[in-house]
Amino acid sequence: MSGSTDVDVVVVGAGVAGLTAATTLAPHRRVLVVSAGAGSTRWAQGGIAAAVGPGDTPEQHAADTLEAGAGACDPEAVAVLTTEGPGRVADLVAAGARFDRDAEGRLLLGREGGHGRRRILHASGDATGVEVARTLELRARELGVSWLDGRVTGLLVSRGRVVGVDVGGRQVRARAVVLATGGLGHAYPVTTNPTGVTGDGLALALLAGATLVDVEFVQFHPTALWTGAAYGQVPLVTEALRGEGAVLRDAGGEAFMQGRHPLADLAPRDVVARAVHEVMRRDATPYVLLDTRPVADLERRFPTVAAACRAHGVALASVPVTPAEHYLCGGVLTDGWGASDVPGLYAVGEVAATGVHGANRLASNSLLEGLVHGHRVATRLARELPASVVADAELCALAPATACSARARELLGGAGGLVRDGVGLADARRELLARPAPEVAWLVAAAVLGAADVRRESRGCHVRSDEPESRPWWRRRIGVRLDAAGVPRAAAEREEWAA
Ligand SMILES: Cc1cc2nc3c(=O)[nH]c(=O)nc-3n(C[C@H](O)[C@H](O)[C@H](O)COP(=O)(O)OP(=O)(O)OC[C@H]3O[C@@H](n4cnc5c(N)ncnc54)[C@H](O)[C@@H]3O)c2cc1C
Repeated sequence: MSGSTDVDVVVVGAGVAGLTAATTLAPHRRVLVVSAGAGSTRWAQGGIAAAVGPGDTPEQHAADTLEAGAGACDPEAVAVLTTEGPGRVADLVAAGARFDRDAEGRLLLGREGGHGRRRILHASGDATGVEVARTLELRARELGVSWLDGRVTGLLVSRGRVVGVDVGGRQVRARAVVLATGGLGHAYPVTTNPTGVTGDGLALALLAGATLVDVEFVQFHPTALWTGAAYGQVPLVTEALRGEGAVLRDAGGEAFMQGRHPLADLAPRDVVARAVHEVMRRDATPYVLLDTRPVADLERRFPTVAAACRAHGVALASVPVTPAEHYLCGGVLTDGWGASDVPGLYAVGEVAATGVHGANRLASNSLLEGLVHGHRVATRLARELPASVVADAELCALAPATACSARARELLGGAGGLVRDGVGLADARRELLARPAPEVAWLVAAAVLGAADVRRESRGCHVRSDEPESRPWWRRRIGVRLDAAGVPRAAAEREEWAA
C-alpha cells in the first residue's frame, strides 16, 4: 500500500474476531486488515462453546457463564453471546469449517470446566483454532479483503476522533479503526499465548484516550505444561482432557479437587487454578500431576497435547502441569456493538471488554465471543460509519521497547500474578511510576497493577491474599484511563453491576 491511503475501516488483527469482522464487512465497505502475525486463535485447543446440542439452550449456557463470572458479568451481554452464538457457529460451518462429528454426522460435543453439560464443538480433536483460522483466512481471500502485514504502532487522532493507524511509519487513514489485537500474554514473563500477543491494543487504546475496564481479571489456566521455563510461551494442556475424565493429583497421588467444588476437576478455571497453586505451595513443588489414564484413545483425540508432551519428554499418563497466564477477561470498554468511548475507535475479541466474562471467563467462550462480536461490529459499521475527518491528525504512538519493558514484565508476573496482595501491588506500582514510558509492557503492567491494587477484595480470577472475601460494595467495575502525565490511573466506578 502507498504512503497515505484511505479506506473505510482498518481492522487491526487477523484472529477470529478481526477476520469475522473483516469478512462480514467486506461486501459493504472498503476494509483493510493489518496483522502482525498469528495470534492466539490458531492455538485454541478445546473448542467453541455454543448451545447446539440436543436439550441444550442459550439460557443454560448463559447460566453457566454467569456462574463462572463470579457475579461480575453483564447479564444482557451474556444473553447476546449465548443467543447469537449458535447462528454465528452455523455461519462458520457454512463458510467451510469442519467440526468433529460421529459416523452419523452428528456433532461430537466436548465438556470443559464450568459447563453443566457437553457443549464444546471441536475440530481434529484439540486443534480447533487451526480450523477456525483456516476457514476465516480462506474466506478473507475469497472476498478479496485487503491485507497489510505489519505492526500498528500508533493511532491517528484528530479532534478526539480516531482517524487512522500508523504501521511502522506508514499512515493509513480510515473512518473507523477496529482493534482486534487479542490479549496481553507476553506482558507476563510466562504465558500460554504465542509470541506477539503483548497487549498492543490495550496500550494503543489508552494512548488515544479510551477507557479500559476489568483488566485486573487476568485468567491463569490451571494446566499449562510444566517445562521449567521462566520466560516465554508454554504449551497448554487442554481442560477438555478433564472433561474426558483426567484427574489432578498431588505428589502423594491424592485427587485434590474432590470436595473443593461440586464439579471437582471440572470446576471453573479460577477455582482449579487457585487449588493447584495452594497444593504447589503446600507441597513445595513446581507442578501437580494430571492423571490422564481415564482418557480413552488420548493420542488420537488430543494430538496437540500428545505432541507437546513428546517434545518435552513427558509421559502422557501423568503430565506435570502448573498455572500460567492465559486470558484477559477485561479490556477496552465497549458497548454491545464494539464501540469504545472514543469516536472512531472500536474493539472486538479478547482486547475488548463486553461484560461477557465478568471476573472469570467460562472455557471456550472466547472464540464464540470473537465470532459474535466480530459480526456485531461489522453489522454496525455496514449500517453507519463515523463522519470522515479531513483535519490534521496527531499521532499517538507507542515507544519502542527498552530494558524498562523487561522489568515491567517481571513486576507484573510477580505482584500481578495468580495471588496478589496490597503491599506487593503498591511496591510494584511505585517502582513502575518512577519511570513512566509509553511502551506497551509498561502501560499494560501499570494498568493491570493499578486496577488490581484498587480492587480490595477477591473475585473470580482476581485473588488477594490480604482481602480473601468478595464484598458486595465491589460489585462495580474499575476503569483505567491515562492521566495528563500519561500514567494509567485506575478508579472504581460509581455504578454497581446489574444483579
Ligand atoms: C493455547 C491457547 C488455547 C486456547 N484455547 C481456547 C479454546 O479452546 N476455546 C476458546 O474459546 N478460546 C481459547 N483460547 C483463547 C482464544 O484462543 C483467544 O482468546 C482468541 O483466539 C482471541 O482471538 P482474537 O481474535 O481476539 O485475537 P488473536 O487471535 O490473539 O489475534 C490477534 C491478532 O492481532 C494482531 N496484532 C496484535 N497486535 C498488533 C499490532 N500492534 N498491529 C497489528 N496486528 C496486531 C496479531 O498479529 C493477531 O493477528 C486459547 C488461547 C490459547 C493461547
